[in-house]
Amino acid sequence: MAVKLQTIADIRKYLSSELAGLYPEGEIWAFTAIITASVLKLSRLTLHGAENKFVEPKDALRIVGICEELKSEKPIQYILGETVFLDCVIRVRPGVLIPRPETEELADLIIRENPGFTGELLDIGTGSGCIAVAVAVKLPSATVSATDVSDLALGTASENAALNNVKINFIKADILKGEPGLPRETDILVSNPPYVRNSEKEQMRRNVLNYEPHEALFVPDSDPLLFYRAILAKAISILRDGGRIYFEINEALGSGVRELTASFGFSNILVRKDINGKDRIVKATWNG
Ligand code: SAM
Ligand code: GLN
Repeated sequence: MAVKLQTIADIRKYLSSELAGLYPEGEIWAFTAIITASVLKLSRLTLHGAENKFVEPKDALRIVGICEELKSEKPIQYILGETVFLDCVIRVRPGVLIPRPETEELADLIIRENPGFTGELLDIGTGSGCIAVAVAVKLPSATVSATDVSDLALGTASENAALNNVKINFIKADILKGEPGLPRETDILVSNPPYVRNSEKEQMRRNVLNYEPHEALFVPDSDPLLFYRAILAKAISILRDGGRIYFEINEALGSGVRELTASFGFSNILVRKDINGKDRIVKATWNG
Protein backbone atom coordinates (compact mmCIF):
# COMPACT_ATOMS: atom_id res chain seq x y z
CA MET A 1 0.00 0.00 0.00
CA ALA A 2 1.62 3.23 -1.11
CA VAL A 3 -0.44 5.42 1.23
CA LYS A 4 -0.85 4.90 4.92
CA LEU A 5 -4.46 4.53 5.94
CA GLN A 6 -4.48 4.83 9.69
CA THR A 7 -7.70 6.67 10.47
CA ILE A 8 -11.21 7.03 9.10
CA ALA A 9 -10.21 10.49 7.85
CA ASP A 10 -7.36 8.88 5.83
CA ILE A 11 -9.84 6.41 4.35
CA ARG A 12 -12.21 9.18 3.40
CA LYS A 13 -9.44 11.06 1.60
CA TYR A 14 -8.15 7.90 -0.09
CA LEU A 15 -11.54 6.88 -1.48
CA SER A 16 -12.29 10.45 -2.61
CA SER A 17 -9.09 10.72 -4.59
CA GLU A 18 -9.08 7.14 -5.99
CA LEU A 19 -12.70 7.23 -7.14
CA ALA A 20 -12.85 10.89 -8.27
CA GLY A 21 -14.05 11.12 -11.84
CA LEU A 22 -15.49 7.60 -11.77
CA TYR A 23 -18.44 8.37 -9.52
CA PRO A 24 -20.22 11.59 -8.47
CA GLU A 25 -18.96 13.08 -5.23
CA GLY A 26 -22.19 12.30 -3.34
CA GLU A 27 -21.94 8.65 -4.30
CA ILE A 28 -18.32 8.46 -3.11
CA TRP A 29 -19.48 9.81 0.26
CA ALA A 30 -22.19 7.18 0.37
CA PHE A 31 -19.66 4.42 -0.49
CA THR A 32 -17.37 5.68 2.26
CA ALA A 33 -20.18 5.43 4.80
CA ILE A 34 -21.24 1.97 3.62
CA ILE A 35 -17.68 0.59 3.45
CA THR A 36 -16.50 1.92 6.79
CA ALA A 37 -19.72 0.77 8.48
CA SER A 38 -19.41 -2.70 6.96
CA VAL A 39 -15.65 -3.32 7.29
CA LEU A 40 -15.16 -1.63 10.66
CA LYS A 41 -18.52 -2.90 11.97
CA LEU A 42 -19.57 0.57 13.01
CA SER A 43 -23.10 1.91 12.78
CA ARG A 44 -23.47 4.78 10.33
CA LEU A 45 -24.32 7.08 13.24
CA THR A 46 -21.15 6.24 15.15
CA LEU A 47 -19.13 7.28 12.12
CA HIS A 48 -19.89 10.92 12.78
CA GLY A 49 -17.18 12.32 14.95
CA ALA A 50 -15.04 9.17 14.54
CA GLU A 51 -12.67 10.72 11.99
CA ASN A 52 -9.58 10.05 14.09
CA LYS A 53 -10.49 6.49 14.99
CA PHE A 54 -7.63 4.07 14.32
CA VAL A 55 -8.11 1.57 11.50
CA GLU A 56 -6.42 -1.85 11.78
CA PRO A 57 -4.01 -2.60 8.90
CA LYS A 58 -6.06 -5.67 7.85
CA ASP A 59 -9.20 -3.53 7.61
CA ALA A 60 -7.33 -0.87 5.63
CA LEU A 61 -6.16 -3.57 3.23
CA ARG A 62 -9.70 -4.83 2.77
CA ILE A 63 -10.87 -1.28 2.02
CA VAL A 64 -8.16 -0.87 -0.62
CA GLY A 65 -9.40 -4.14 -2.21
CA ILE A 66 -13.00 -2.91 -2.20
CA CYS A 67 -11.89 0.36 -3.78
CA GLU A 68 -10.16 -1.55 -6.60
CA GLU A 69 -13.36 -3.52 -7.27
CA LEU A 70 -15.37 -0.27 -7.31
CA LYS A 71 -13.08 0.98 -10.07
CA SER A 72 -14.44 -1.80 -12.28
CA GLU A 73 -17.95 -0.44 -11.51
CA LYS A 74 -19.02 -3.57 -9.69
CA PRO A 75 -21.96 -2.61 -7.45
CA ILE A 76 -20.92 -2.10 -3.83
CA GLN A 77 -23.65 -4.51 -2.67
CA TYR A 78 -22.11 -7.34 -4.72
CA ILE A 79 -18.62 -6.47 -3.48
CA LEU A 80 -19.73 -6.62 0.14
CA GLY A 81 -22.19 -9.46 -0.52
CA GLU A 82 -24.97 -7.74 1.38
CA THR A 83 -27.19 -4.72 1.71
CA VAL A 84 -29.76 -3.43 4.18
CA PHE A 85 -33.47 -3.48 3.33
CA LEU A 86 -35.91 -2.02 5.89
CA ASP A 87 -33.49 -2.84 8.75
CA CYS A 88 -32.97 -6.42 7.50
CA VAL A 89 -29.52 -7.51 6.33
CA ILE A 90 -30.04 -9.07 2.90
CA ARG A 91 -27.31 -11.08 1.17
CA VAL A 92 -26.91 -10.61 -2.55
CA ARG A 93 -24.66 -12.11 -5.21
CA PRO A 94 -24.27 -11.59 -8.96
CA GLY A 95 -27.30 -13.23 -10.60
CA VAL A 96 -29.63 -11.94 -7.88
CA LEU A 97 -31.08 -8.43 -8.22
CA ILE A 98 -29.90 -5.86 -5.69
CA PRO A 99 -32.92 -4.56 -3.73
CA ARG A 100 -33.85 -1.00 -4.65
CA PRO A 101 -35.02 1.88 -2.43
CA GLU A 102 -38.30 2.00 -4.42
CA THR A 103 -38.92 -1.60 -3.40
CA GLU A 104 -38.32 -0.66 0.23
CA GLU A 105 -41.15 1.83 -0.22
CA LEU A 106 -43.39 -0.96 -1.54
CA ALA A 107 -42.61 -3.32 1.34
CA ASP A 108 -42.96 -0.48 3.84
CA LEU A 109 -46.41 0.40 2.45
CA ILE A 110 -47.61 -3.19 2.85
CA ILE A 111 -46.29 -3.28 6.41
CA ARG A 112 -47.88 0.07 7.34
CA GLU A 113 -51.23 -0.73 5.74
CA ASN A 114 -51.58 -4.14 7.38
CA PRO A 115 -50.65 -3.84 11.07
CA GLY A 116 -51.10 -7.13 12.92
CA PHE A 117 -51.77 -8.96 9.63
CA THR A 118 -52.52 -12.64 10.30
CA GLY A 119 -53.32 -13.80 6.75
CA GLU A 120 -51.30 -15.19 3.88
CA LEU A 121 -49.01 -13.22 1.57
CA LEU A 122 -47.41 -14.38 -1.67
CA ASP A 123 -44.40 -12.60 -3.23
CA ILE A 124 -43.96 -13.38 -6.94
CA GLY A 125 -40.44 -12.95 -8.38
CA THR A 126 -38.87 -12.77 -4.93
CA GLY A 127 -35.22 -12.37 -6.05
CA SER A 128 -33.13 -11.91 -2.89
CA GLY A 129 -36.34 -12.38 -0.90
CA CYS A 130 -36.12 -8.81 0.37
CA ILE A 131 -39.88 -8.07 0.32
CA ALA A 132 -40.92 -11.44 1.75
CA VAL A 133 -38.26 -11.31 4.49
CA ALA A 134 -39.04 -7.73 5.54
CA VAL A 135 -42.78 -8.46 5.68
CA ALA A 136 -42.20 -11.68 7.65
CA VAL A 137 -39.97 -9.80 10.12
CA LYS A 138 -42.29 -6.82 10.58
CA LEU A 139 -45.62 -8.71 10.43
CA PRO A 140 -44.67 -11.83 12.40
CA SER A 141 -48.18 -13.34 12.38
CA ALA A 142 -48.33 -13.41 8.57
CA THR A 143 -47.86 -16.63 6.63
CA VAL A 144 -45.44 -15.75 3.84
CA SER A 145 -44.76 -17.63 0.60
CA ALA A 146 -42.41 -16.55 -2.16
CA THR A 147 -41.72 -17.76 -5.66
CA ASP A 148 -39.11 -17.29 -8.37
CA VAL A 149 -38.00 -19.07 -11.52
CA SER A 150 -34.30 -18.76 -10.61
CA ASP A 151 -32.63 -21.37 -8.39
CA LEU A 152 -29.93 -18.87 -7.48
CA ALA A 153 -32.56 -16.36 -6.33
CA LEU A 154 -34.44 -18.98 -4.32
CA GLY A 155 -31.23 -20.21 -2.68
CA THR A 156 -30.24 -16.67 -1.73
CA ALA A 157 -33.75 -15.85 -0.53
CA SER A 158 -33.80 -18.89 1.78
CA GLU A 159 -30.41 -17.87 3.18
CA ASN A 160 -31.91 -14.44 3.86
CA ALA A 161 -34.95 -15.92 5.58
CA ALA A 162 -32.65 -17.94 7.86
CA LEU A 163 -30.36 -14.96 8.46
CA ASN A 164 -33.36 -12.90 9.59
CA ASN A 165 -34.92 -15.75 11.61
CA VAL A 166 -38.17 -15.99 9.65
CA LYS A 167 -39.97 -18.90 8.06
CA ILE A 168 -40.97 -18.48 4.43
CA ASN A 169 -42.44 -21.09 2.13
CA PHE A 170 -40.29 -20.94 -1.06
CA ILE A 171 -41.67 -22.31 -4.30
CA LYS A 172 -39.93 -22.64 -7.65
CA ALA A 173 -42.34 -21.67 -10.43
CA ASP A 174 -42.38 -19.89 -13.76
CA ILE A 175 -45.24 -17.41 -13.53
CA LEU A 176 -45.41 -17.11 -17.32
CA LYS A 177 -46.07 -20.81 -17.68
CA GLY A 178 -48.86 -21.13 -15.14
CA GLU A 179 -46.99 -23.93 -13.38
CA PRO A 180 -48.67 -25.56 -10.39
CA GLY A 181 -47.25 -25.33 -6.88
CA LEU A 182 -48.33 -21.83 -5.84
CA PRO A 183 -50.57 -21.54 -2.77
CA ARG A 184 -54.23 -22.16 -3.68
CA GLU A 185 -55.38 -19.12 -1.75
CA THR A 186 -53.86 -15.92 -0.46
CA ASP A 187 -54.86 -12.56 1.04
CA ILE A 188 -52.09 -10.36 -0.32
CA LEU A 189 -50.18 -10.80 -3.53
CA VAL A 190 -47.10 -8.65 -4.05
CA SER A 191 -44.77 -8.49 -7.01
CA ASN A 192 -41.90 -6.44 -8.36
CA PRO A 193 -41.61 -8.23 -11.70
CA PRO A 194 -39.24 -7.40 -14.57
CA TYR A 195 -40.55 -4.16 -16.09
CA VAL A 196 -37.71 -2.23 -17.79
CA ARG A 197 -38.31 -2.08 -21.55
CA ASN A 198 -35.39 -3.17 -23.73
CA SER A 199 -35.43 0.30 -25.33
CA GLU A 200 -34.74 1.80 -21.88
CA LYS A 201 -31.41 -0.05 -21.59
CA GLU A 202 -29.55 2.88 -23.10
CA GLN A 203 -30.49 5.13 -20.20
CA MET A 204 -29.33 2.62 -17.60
CA ARG A 205 -26.02 2.81 -15.82
CA ARG A 206 -23.22 0.45 -16.76
CA ASN A 207 -22.95 -0.97 -13.26
CA VAL A 208 -26.55 -2.24 -13.61
CA LEU A 209 -26.20 -3.40 -17.21
CA ASN A 210 -22.86 -5.15 -16.74
CA TYR A 211 -23.47 -6.80 -13.41
CA GLU A 212 -27.16 -7.38 -12.71
CA PRO A 213 -29.27 -10.24 -14.09
CA HIS A 214 -31.04 -9.15 -17.26
CA GLU A 215 -33.81 -11.74 -16.82
CA ALA A 216 -34.75 -9.97 -13.58
CA LEU A 217 -35.07 -6.59 -15.26
CA PHE A 218 -36.01 -6.53 -18.91
CA VAL A 219 -39.18 -7.01 -20.90
CA PRO A 220 -39.84 -6.64 -24.63
CA ASP A 221 -41.11 -3.28 -25.84
CA SER A 222 -43.82 -5.12 -27.74
CA ASP A 223 -45.38 -6.41 -24.50
CA PRO A 224 -43.96 -4.62 -21.44
CA LEU A 225 -46.83 -5.68 -19.15
CA LEU A 226 -46.57 -9.42 -19.82
CA PHE A 227 -45.66 -10.23 -16.21
CA TYR A 228 -48.53 -8.17 -14.80
CA ARG A 229 -50.99 -9.93 -17.11
CA ALA A 230 -49.75 -13.37 -16.03
CA ILE A 231 -49.77 -12.37 -12.34
CA LEU A 232 -53.26 -10.83 -12.52
CA ALA A 233 -54.57 -13.95 -14.25
CA LYS A 234 -53.20 -16.01 -11.35
CA ALA A 235 -54.33 -13.46 -8.75
CA ILE A 236 -58.02 -13.67 -9.63
CA SER A 237 -58.02 -17.40 -9.04
CA ILE A 238 -56.15 -17.37 -5.72
CA LEU A 239 -57.05 -14.10 -3.96
CA ARG A 240 -59.66 -14.37 -1.25
CA ASP A 241 -62.56 -11.91 -1.23
CA GLY A 242 -61.20 -8.52 -0.15
CA GLY A 243 -57.66 -9.64 -0.99
CA ARG A 244 -55.16 -7.12 -2.33
CA ILE A 245 -52.41 -6.82 -4.87
CA TYR A 246 -49.38 -4.56 -4.52
CA PHE A 247 -47.20 -4.08 -7.61
CA GLU A 248 -44.02 -2.16 -8.23
CA ILE A 249 -44.22 -0.64 -11.71
CA ASN A 250 -42.25 1.15 -14.41
CA GLU A 251 -42.80 4.88 -13.85
CA ALA A 252 -43.86 5.27 -17.50
CA LEU A 253 -46.49 2.53 -17.37
CA GLY A 254 -48.78 3.61 -14.53
CA SER A 255 -51.89 4.07 -16.61
CA GLY A 256 -51.20 0.88 -18.57
CA VAL A 257 -50.97 -1.19 -15.38
CA ARG A 258 -54.03 0.57 -13.97
CA GLU A 259 -56.11 -0.24 -17.07
CA LEU A 260 -54.88 -3.82 -17.20
CA THR A 261 -55.72 -4.29 -13.52
CA ALA A 262 -59.20 -2.84 -14.07
CA SER A 263 -59.77 -5.16 -17.03
CA PHE A 264 -59.36 -8.14 -14.65
CA GLY A 265 -62.17 -6.77 -12.44
CA PHE A 266 -60.17 -5.30 -9.53
CA SER A 267 -61.51 -2.29 -7.63
CA ASN A 268 -60.00 0.56 -5.54
CA ILE A 269 -57.11 0.76 -8.01
CA LEU A 270 -54.53 3.30 -6.89
CA VAL A 271 -51.32 4.42 -8.59
CA ARG A 272 -48.89 5.79 -5.99
CA LYS A 273 -45.78 7.84 -6.50
CA ASP A 274 -42.35 7.10 -4.99
CA ILE A 275 -40.28 9.65 -3.07
CA ASN A 276 -38.99 10.97 -6.38
CA GLY A 277 -42.54 11.77 -7.50
CA LYS A 278 -42.63 8.93 -10.06
CA ASP A 279 -45.52 6.49 -10.49
CA ARG A 280 -44.13 3.42 -8.73
CA ILE A 281 -46.78 1.36 -6.95
CA VAL A 282 -50.16 0.07 -8.06
CA LYS A 283 -52.46 -1.42 -5.48
CA ALA A 284 -55.96 -2.79 -5.88
CA THR A 285 -58.61 -4.91 -4.17
CA TRP A 286 -60.24 -8.12 -5.34
CA ASN A 287 -63.90 -8.50 -4.49
CA GLY A 288 -64.53 -11.77 -6.26
N1 SAM B 1 -38.46 -9.08 -5.57
C1 SAM B 1 -37.06 -8.80 -5.78
C2 SAM B 1 -36.79 -7.34 -5.49
O1 SAM B 1 -37.76 -6.57 -5.43
O2 SAM B 1 -35.62 -6.96 -5.30
C3 SAM B 1 -36.61 -9.14 -7.21
C4 SAM B 1 -37.36 -8.40 -8.28
S1 SAM B 1 -36.70 -8.59 -9.92
C5 SAM B 1 -37.19 -7.07 -10.62
C6 SAM B 1 -37.77 -9.77 -10.70
C7 SAM B 1 -37.62 -11.22 -10.25
O3 SAM B 1 -38.52 -12.03 -11.04
C8 SAM B 1 -36.24 -11.82 -10.45
O4 SAM B 1 -35.80 -12.40 -9.25
C9 SAM B 1 -36.44 -12.91 -11.52
O5 SAM B 1 -35.64 -14.06 -11.33
C10 SAM B 1 -37.91 -13.24 -11.36
N2 SAM B 1 -38.51 -13.77 -12.58
C11 SAM B 1 -38.20 -13.47 -13.87
N3 SAM B 1 -38.97 -14.19 -14.70
C12 SAM B 1 -39.78 -14.96 -13.94
C13 SAM B 1 -40.79 -15.92 -14.22
N4 SAM B 1 -41.10 -16.23 -15.49
N5 SAM B 1 -41.43 -16.53 -13.20
C14 SAM B 1 -41.10 -16.23 -11.92
N6 SAM B 1 -40.16 -15.31 -11.58
C15 SAM B 1 -39.50 -14.69 -12.57
N1 GLN C 1 -36.07 -0.27 -10.59
C1 GLN C 1 -35.18 -1.23 -11.19
C2 GLN C 1 -34.09 -0.54 -12.00
O1 GLN C 1 -34.29 0.54 -12.46
C3 GLN C 1 -35.97 -2.19 -12.08
C4 GLN C 1 -36.76 -3.16 -11.29
C5 GLN C 1 -37.63 -4.02 -12.13
O2 GLN C 1 -37.43 -4.25 -13.33
N2 GLN C 1 -38.63 -4.51 -11.52
O3 GLN C 1 -33.02 -1.07 -12.18
